[in-house]
Amino acid sequence: MAEKFDIVVIGSGPAGYVAAIKAAQLGMSVACVEQWVDDKNGAVLGGTCLNVGCIPSKALLDSSQKFVEARDSFALHGIGIGKPKIDVAAMQERKKKIVGQLTGGIAGLFKHNGVTVIQGRGKVVSGANVEVTDKDGNSRVVEAGDVIIAAGSEPVRIPPAPVDGESIVDSTGALEFSEVPKRLGVIGAGVIGLELGSVWGRLGAEVVLLEALDDFLPMMDVQIARETQKIFRKQGLDIRLGARVTGTELKKGKVEVTYDTAEGSHTETFDKLIVSVGRRPRSEELLASDCGVTLDERGFIYVNEFCATEAPHVYAVGDVVRGPMLAHKGSEEGVMVVERIAGKPAQLNYDCIPSVIYTHPEVAAVGKTEQELKADGVEYKAGVFPFAASGRALAANDTEGMVKILADAETDRILGCHIVGPSAADLTQQVVIAMEFGSSAEDLALMVFGHPTLSEAVHEAALAVDGHAIHVANRKRK
Ligand code: FAD
Ligand code: NAD
Repeated sequence: MAEKFDIVVIGSGPAGYVAAIKAAQLGMSVACVEQWVDDKNGAVLGGTCLNVGCIPSKALLDSSQKFVEARDSFALHGIGIGKPKIDVAAMQERKKKIVGQLTGGIAGLFKHNGVTVIQGRGKVVSGANVEVTDKDGNSRVVEAGDVIIAAGSEPVRIPPAPVDGESIVDSTGALEFSEVPKRLGVIGAGVIGLELGSVWGRLGAEVVLLEALDDFLPMMDVQIARETQKIFRKQGLDIRLGARVTGTELKKGKVEVTYDTAEGSHTETFDKLIVSVGRRPRSEELLASDCGVTLDERGFIYVNEFCATEAPHVYAVGDVVRGPMLAHKGSEEGVMVVERIAGKPAQLNYDCIPSVIYTHPEVAAVGKTEQELKADGVEYKAGVFPFAASGRALAANDTEGMVKILADAETDRILGCHIVGPSAADLTQQVVIAMEFGSSAEDLALMVFGHPTLSEAVHEAALAVDGHAIHVANRKRK
C-alpha cells in the first residue's frame, strides 16, 4: 500500500522544515523529503541556511570580528594581549559544531512533532503526489493531500569563472578555506561577496571585489549604500565597480582573472577566487511535465500571493519562488501556506520583510528606499541620525553609520527604515514591528527609549523626521 500523508514537504531548509513542523502542530500527518544525505545515509536537514548559508557564515563572521577587535580595539580599552593569531582549524571546528547542533535540533523537533523524514529526491507528479528516488536510485510514490515544494536555490554559475572547488569556489567553498588566502578575489559585490569577503579580509587576506554594475548595492537606499561603500573601503575591501570578468586561468595554484572596465582590460592574480553572482531556484527535475505546476521565465515556480501554484493542492515557498532569497521570508511563507490549508485566513506582508548584510557595521533595511519613493511619486519626509552622536555607540567605540527613517509626507506613516551601523539588524527589527502596526514616525518619537542604548538612534531618527531631534542639529524646514 502506498504511503499517504496529509502534507508532503519537498526540502528541509528553513522554508520546508518550518512548514513541516507547523503542519504537524496543527494535527496533520507530515512527511519531509530531503535529498541531501550524510555519511550514515541519513537525510541532512536544515537546507542551505543551516548547512552552508546563514549559520556557518555568521559563525565565521563572529569569529573574524572578534579577531579584529582583539587586534585593533583591545588596546584602546587598556587591554594588552600582544599580537593575536588566528587558528583557522579551530575557527572552522567551532562553526561545524554550531551547524551540527542546529541540524540535530531540527531532527529532534521533527521527532518531537511526529514529522516523518524521507531521504530521497522528490518530484511532483500528477494528482499532487510525490515520487521519491532514494540515493540507490529506487523510486516510489508517496501520496499527499497537499504538497509544499521548498526546494531552495543554488549558486549561479558563470562561464568565465568555472567553479573547481579548489581555487575557484562558490559560497560553500568559501566557508571551508583551511587557511587565510593572501590575495582573495571575489566576483560580485553583493551580500555573499561582502560577508565572506569581510570574513577573510578581517583575518588578513587582501580582498578585491569585482562588481559588474556601476552602482554599489543598488537595491539599498542610495544614501546608506554610499556610506556603506565608504566604510568598507576604509576597512580595506577593494571594491571595483563596472568590472566585467571575461576569463580565468589556473596558473601554478593561483587564479589569473581578466576583466574589463570602462578604462580597458585588466588582469589580477589571486590565491582563491569566490564566485558570488547570485543564486537561482533549484527547480530542475522537480516537476513531472504533466503535474500542472509552471515556472516563470527565470525558473522560479509560479505562485500567487498565497504561494499556491497553478496545480490544485500544490504550493511552493522559499527561494524557489519569487521574492527576496531570505530564510525568514521562506519560513513565514511556509507557515502561511499551512495555515491556509488548515482553513485559517493567513497572509504575509511582503512590504515588511527586513534584509540584513551581516558585515561590521551591519547594513539592514525594511520597506521603501528614498529612490523607490521618488520613482513612485510618493511625497515623503526623511529623518536621519548618525551613530557618531549616540552615547552608547561612542562608549562602544562603534560610531560609524546612521539610522534613516522615511515617512509619508501627509500621513506620517513609516514607509521605510535603512540603517548602516552597530546592531543594525536588531534596530531595524524594531521598525519592522512599528510598520506592522501601521505606526507613524510620531508614534515612535513619542515612545520612551532606554538610555544609553543604540535604540535611541532609532528614536532620534523618528524625531528627526519632523525636525525634532534633540541630539543632532535638525535640517532647516521650509
Ligand atoms: P534551502 O535552504 O536551499 O533548502 C532547500 C532544501 O531542499 C535543501 O536541503 C535541498 O537539498 C532540498 N531539496 C532541493 N530539491 C529537492 C528535491 N527534489 N527533493 C528533496 N529535497 C530537495 N538568508 C538570510 O535570511 N539570512 C542570512 O544571513 C543568510 N545568509 C546566507 C549566507 C550564505 C552563504 C548563503 C548561500 C545564503 C544565505 N542566506 C541567508 C539565504 C538563505 O540561506 C536562503 O534564503 C534559505 O536557505 C532558503 O531556504 P529554502 O528552505 O527556500 O531553501
Ligand atoms: P546578490 O544578488 O546579493 O549579489 C550578486 C552580485 O553579483 C550583484 O551585485 C551583481 O550585480 C553581481 N554580478 C552578477 N553577475 C556578475 C558578473 N558576471 N560579474 C561581476 N558581478 C556580477 O547575490 P549573492 O551575494 O550571490 O547572494 C545570493 C542570495 O543569497 C542573495 O539574494 C541573498 O538574498 C541571499 N543571501 C542573504 C544573506 C543575508 O541575508 N545576510 C547572506 C548571503 C546570501
